[in-house]
Amino acid sequence: MADSRIPAALREHVTHRAKNCCEYCYSQSRFAVQPFSIEHINPTSKGGLSTEDNLALSCQGCNNHKYNKTQGSDPISGQKTPLYHPRIHAWTDHFVWNEDYEPVWHK
Ligand SMILES: [Zn+2]
Repeated sequence: MADSRIPAALREHVTHRAKNCCEYCYSQSRFAVQPFSIEHINPTSKGGLSTEDNLALSCQGCNNHKYNKTQGSDPISGQKTPLYHPRIHAWTDHFVWNEDYEPVWHK
């Protein structure tokens, strides 16, 4: 969810750092129907701060899906596992684009 408490200069920095792409699915904002959000990787409801290292540019689909979660269930083991973190993990270690240009999780 967009947070108006994030200074405009910081929003601009995060957007520029992400090259106008969602940091979760790599969709480009210029092709999106809805505006992208600056989201808190570690949600403010869980103590996350509006700092550069805790903010990510996100499309509405990823932002809505992630919401305030930081963990999910591993589809193979069923165990709780941390969600992808754009500042810690390498996107290409976890996802690929399929032939329909949809990002998919890879093993
Ligand atoms: Zn996305």
